Amino acid sequence: MSFERAGNAHSSSDQTTVRRANLGVVLQQIAGGEPRSRARVASDTGLTRGTVSSLVGELIELDLLRETGEDQRSGRAGRPGLALELSDRVVAVGLEVNVDYLAVCVEDLAGNVRYQKHVHTDNRRSAPGPVLNRLARLARGAEELIAAESLVSAGIAVALPGLVAAESGTLLRAPNLGWSDIAVADEISSRLGGVPVRVDNEANLAALAEHWQGVARGLDNFICVFAEVGVGAGIFIGGDLFRGSHGFGAELGHITVAPGGLPCQCGAVGCLETIVGQEAIARRAGICEDDKRRARNVTRELVRRAEQGDAAVIASLAEASRALGIGLASAVNLFDVDAVVLGGCLGPLAPWLVADVREALGVRVLSAGWSGCEVLVSEFGEGAAVRGAAALTLRSVLAEPWLVAERSVAVREGVS
Ligand SMILES: [Zn+2]
Repeated sequence: MSFERAGNAHSSSDQTTVRRANLGVVLQQIAGGEPRSRARVASDTGLTRGTVSSLVGELIELDLLRETGEDQRSGRAGRPGLALELSDRVVAVGLEVNVDYLAVCVEDLAGNVRYQKHVHTDNRRSAPGPVLNRLARLARGAEELIAAESLVSAGIAVALPGLVAAESGTLLRAPNLGWSDIAVADEISSRLGGVPVRVDNEANLAALAEHWQGVARGLDNFICVFAEVGVGAGIFIGGDLFRGSHGFGAELGHITVAPGGLPCQCGAVGCLETIVGQEAIARRAGICEDDKRRARNVTRELVRRAEQGDAAVIASLAEASRALGIGLASAVNLFDVDAVVLGGCLGPLAPWLVADVREALGVRVLSAGWSGCEVLVSEFGEGAAVRGAAALTLRSVLAEPWLVAERSVAVREGVS
């Protein structure tokens, strides 16, 4: 985590700016490592002890920090100071609309999941309105828990499968849902009494979750491929999401890997998604619609059959791993990242994918002999995008801690 300390300033608005920046400096310093005393924060940041004490007081007041035990490593003679750690009272709500499920989670700033719920439901067969009603009900369940446990909600964000205009909160196009131009942020906000709601692409948020609490912690440059029915990716460059000019970048699922292949929901032909998504793998393995409906969870059914040695499923997975290797090697050639993360349904299916992907990166990436790009497997399962939706808010709390007070009031007034 990197940050710059704010310099000296004289006018009162400059002083407010400096103080706010320093609140972020202190909070990020404590978030970035083990609990530590005020004295250690002062020596680590170069701020005076008096300034640190005052900033810490404000952060405790905002429920962002708490005191815990004593810092035995303060390195000073005499009584060790009380150690500070992130408080677990400030939380964020993550929501997710996927093609075949809805999800909600509540995660606190310290990284604990306080509440999580997945509901399997085929949203392809539904108009947006009823789906968003169900999502809002899940959000209300989360808000009830937050109220019951006297937690402080810092905000709500929704992960969506498709092209998202994050600024306007609109889902522009979700080929696998058959939805277009849905103002999801406004729709959810109005169902929750006007609370502010943010939205983002599911694969971007899955990458954010991996960077925040997952297998990509501490990595500044990586590609997270997130597959469920569709296939997307989130690309981290220099410690932040690469979004392209319009926020539409990293649509790995729609790069062409089989010219002349099968038609894709997007209108093109031979996209990676026609070979690698859970539906594509099931279809190529000859698993019929009835079987998929009976199984409910297609990924679990694929794992079950692969473990039993089902030849058609294993052949389909081999085809998927070859296509995925080609797609990821192209992306690594472009972006020179340290790792690729296999997420979503690719996590449980990783035992049948990783070797081929690793081989493709070794053979097809020009710099493979010098850089070495790791293949990591997500541990979130279906939970990555919804965890990322919570992380979107929690990350902004670390960057701008003073906004917590305003946000929590807006959320409380909206929901009550
Ligand atoms: Zn496509």
